[in-house]
This record gives sequence, C-alpha cells and structure tokens, in this order.
Amino acid sequence: MKLDTKLIHGGVFGDEHTGAVSVPIYQVSTYKQKRAGEHAGYEYSRTDNPTRAALEQLIAELENGEAGLAFASGMAAISAVLSCFNQGDHLVVGDDVYGGTYRVIAKVFQRLGIRATFVDTSDFRQVEAAILPETRAIYMETPSNPLLKVSDIRKIAQLAKAHGLLLIVDNTFMTPYWQNPLDLGADIVVHSATKYLGGHSDVVAGLVVTGKKVLGEELHFLQNSIGGILGPQDSWLLMRGIKTLGLRMKQHEQNARQIAKWLEEQKEVKVVYYPGLITHPGHETARSQARGFGGIISFDVGSEKLADQVLEKTCYFTLAESLGAVESLISVPARMTHASIPAERRAELGITDGLIRISVGVEDVEDLIMDLEQALR
Ligand SMILES: *Cc1c(COP(=O)(O)O)cnc(C)c1O
Repeated sequence: MKLDTKLIHGGVFGDEHTGAVSVPIYQVSTYKQKRAGEHAGYEYSRTDNPTRAALEQLIAELENGEAGLAFASGMAAISAVLSCFNQGDHLVVGDDVYGGTYRVIAKVFQRLGIRATFVDTSDFRQVEAAILPETRAIYMETPSNPLLKVSDIRKIAQLAKAHGLLLIVDNTFMTPYWQNPLDLGADIVVHSATKYLGGHSDVVAGLVVTGKKVLGEELHFLQNSIGGILGPQDSWLLMRGIKTLGLRMKQHEQNARQIAKWLEEQKEVKVVYYPGLITHPGHETARSQARGFGGIISFDVGSEKLADQVLEKTCYFTLAESLGAVESLISVPARMTHASIPAERRAELGITDGLIRISVGVEDVEDLIMDLEQALR
C-alpha cells in the first residue's frame, strides 16, 4: 500500500458492526467481563481503548513499526520513553531539542539520577565522544528546533547499535509522511502529534512507535503504569487529522520552499535556516534520509527590534507557540519556545534575539510572501 493510501486505509477502517466509515468514539472507561478476568480484549480504558487502539495501530503502520502508543501530549509520550531508564543511566541528547524536552531531562529526570550530556548531534564526532560506559541511549531531533540542523540517522543508528544503545528520534518536524526513522535504524520514534499529525491547532497529543516487540511491551507497561494516555475524543480527532496529512504536508513544503528562497534574497535577512536550500549544511543528509524538507523555516533578522516589527506587522502569521497547523504561525524562539533554556546556553546555540521561526501554513504562498515583505519593510 502506498503512503497516501495508507493515510486513508491504514490502521482500522471504519466500524465493522455498523458499516460506519469513521472509527467510532468509544467514550467508555470500563468493559463488561463474561467471567472474572475473561474479557473481549478490553478491560479498562487506561490500559486499552478501541478508539485509541485504532490510532495506535495507524501510527505504527505509518512509521513501519510494531507497536504504537498514544499519550496526552508530546511531553507525556517523551516522559514515558525516558521512564525506560534507571538511576545511574546516561543519555546523549541533542543540544537544540525542543525546550520542554530539555527541561524534562535537565530538571526532572536528572533529579531522579538519569544523567545526560547535550551535544550537537549533527556533528557525528560529538555524539561518538559523548558516549560513556553508562550510556543507554541517544536522543535527537532531526531537523532540530529552531535551527533545523540535520543529524544523520543511519550513521548514528549504526553507532548506537555498535555500543548497544537505543536510538530515539523525535520525528515531529518531518512526520512519517517525509521521514521514517525506524527504517533508518532507530529504535523508538516520538511525536508531538499536536503539530502536523493533528494539523489544525485543536488537539494536544503525543505518539510513540517502536519496531521492536519487547520495547513495545515495555512501553505499553509504562503507558499503563504512569497513565498519561490520550482520551478517545482526541484519538478520533487525530485520526481525522492524519487522513489529510499528505495533502497538507505537500502544500506546507511547496510554500516553504518558495518562502525560503525569497527570504534568502532579502537584504534584511542575515541567515535563512531551511534544509531544502542547497546552501543549508545538512541539505545532502536531509535528502538522503527524508522524502521532503518540511514546512518550518527560521531566519535571523539581526536584531530584536526588527524581529519585533515583523511579529507585529504580519497579518497572516499568527504570533503563537506551536507549529505544523494549516494556519501560518510565527514566533521568536529566544522568548517563547526556548525561553526555558538559560540565556547563555541560548547564545552558544545561536538562538539569537533576532531569530524568527515560521511555521508555513497552507495559505496561498503569494499572500504569505507579500505579508512578510510588508512586515520586513
Ligand atoms: C511541541 C513539541 C514537543 C512537545 O509536545 P507537546 O505536544 O507540546 O507536549 C516535543 N517535541 C517537539 C519537536 C515539539 O515541537
């Protein structure tokens, strides 16, 4: 089955009892048992719920994995994955991961005795050099947020394998439509489904997929034990969003490519970060491991003042956190998504006060370019 068909026919199609073409919302917490302990596959909705199960099967198929799991947010999904590790374990983590991921690792899991070293995973030697005898996993995003740095999934997966480590990839920016980390050797994929998978700024959710049966069982155990599950209504909304993932991703990308090229030609813009540009240092790696470059662009206008002007004057780019929805969004990472990273660390990373990140929506690209032009001038 080709990907665009899988988006519609993958997972569970409709309802076999009634013929409904959409999976029903099973708004239920518990299930009647025939005899004590004998049930029809479902006993309590924290453990399993048919609507959530349909979504979990769908995302597992889209990522070419064995097991999918749905959580109440991307952070709940990431926290469940991090709960696989024990006191004394060490992780190698990308140094420009999502601010909330940095925060949960540095301020919650480190407190529980799980140590981490943050490195630039787009530089293979840094990843290799950070591995200690206690290292258990490498955790990364590619492309990363907000500088769109590209890490070589295949190469890092081989390194992880050689050292007996798990490779965990946050695939939020690419989605399974453009990139499948499990096919490239990763062990676990995580998603903030709040972004492209949902796609309409109306649901907060997280997904995890693994290609290994044993890991799937462990993650289901953690999902059930910790309990941060996605409810049936939101599971249904996500499945609805995923049906149009292909249509949306193609439009996001087409618009983003044009806008990135245009931004490169503007004298006010110092740097444009977009992996689809041949001038981007990660362009070749991105091409070798993904089918597209996505819809996120960051660009540096050199000063906080000009950044503020752009934020204030654009009319089609809504000033908001988040990304990946049909409407275009604009943000300044230093003061928004990445504010939880200490200022001096931000400066080291290149997340300057003039850095603007846009999530290009599916509007007419001419309107978007005109809007950016008047805001810059
Ligand atoms: C938003 C985001 C998260 C966190 O997901 P929530 O759904 O907001 O909890 C994790 N990783 C990336 C790359 C994100 O963009």
